[in-house]
Amino acid sequence: MVDSPRDRSRDEESPDKPRCLVVMYHYVRDVETLPRSGMHTVPVGLGALGTRDFRIQLDRLGRQMEPIDWPTFYAWTCGRGSIPRRCFLLTFDDGLVDHAETVIPILHEQSLRAVFFVPGAILTSHRLLPAHIVHALLSVLDAQTLEEELLAYLQEQRGSGAYWSAAVDMNAARKLYHYETPERARLKYLLTVLLPIELRNEAVEALFERHIGSVTRWARHWYMSWDDLVAIESAGHTIGGHGYGHEPYSRLTPGQRRDDLRRLTAVLRGGLGPDRRPFSYPYGRWDKDACAACRDASFVHAFTTERRLVTQDDDAFSLPRVDTIDVEAVLEKEVPCPSP
Ligand SMILES: [Zn+2]
Repeated sequence: MVDSPRDRSRDEESPDKPRCLVVMYHYVRDVETLPRSGMHTVPVGLGALGTRDFRIQLDRLGRQMEPIDWPTFYAWTCGRGSIPRRCFLLTFDDGLVDHAETVIPILHEQSLRAVFFVPGAILTSHRLLPAHIVHALLSVLDAQTLEEELLAYLQEQRGSGAYWSAAVDMNAARKLYHYETPERARLKYLLTVLLPIELRNEAVEALFERHIGSVTRWARHWYMSWDDLVAIESAGHTIGGHGYGHEPYSRLTPGQRRDDLRRLTAVLRGGLGPDRRPFSYPYGRWDKDACAACRDASFVHAFTTERRLVTQDDDAFSLPRVDTIDVEAVLEKEVPCPSP
């Protein structure tokens, strides 16, 4: 059955209108090693959340709001059920091994259910995604050294560093990477948005192999496996899609977006079976065509990275979601503590 559109006339602006804080996490780990492998890395480049801070945030959320799971959230967005007046939904991006090794045991201790958004390519290509290669490189090199080495590689191997002289819109770079220093935001923006994808992939993989090791060997320890995903889904959590190649849809053509989504749904259906699933846009980048492409690919709704709570008025394919580092500010603004 197709879900009927919500009756928007019900959703009058009111302070008592139910709202849900959807929180986004990436790396959650303590030690300076990759779980399972013992391979050393340095968390400064990963921006990892430690387990102590993760637990503190869960406590903080639990004191002010009630947790809900994705089926409850989905039914509410379809107008078929209710949610507590102030509630939160936990989501984890990128299919990182941290989620199976570190996050799941903590969630189970606290009887919490979450959504795990997985890029399709990690289950098929068995290579590190370029975004994670850059995180790892920034854990062993500073941004200036990495930029110099990338430029040198492009000049030596490809006879041109022309892409590197492209003017970077620093406002756009700071907006996308608001949690980074200007130097790192500029470098990440060049790599994620401006440099041609194939050239970028070749350059970052070459530098990873020079400084760290094999991208295929590391991928085996960086991501969750099918066994992890099956166990997570069997335990009552939800697996969602996060692109196939994990490129921002703003830089793909409409045809490339549809191809990326077609490959993603084929991977998820092949490994986990057909089901209703949510989607999160890689890097939170979306537009109307991306919304339509997600809907056509049978995802039931999609999350951006707009920093506010979800209301029932929100469009199903541009739902807001808040990064863990912004949770405190959003709670203070939107869910003030009751007066003593
Ligand atoms: Zn991602």
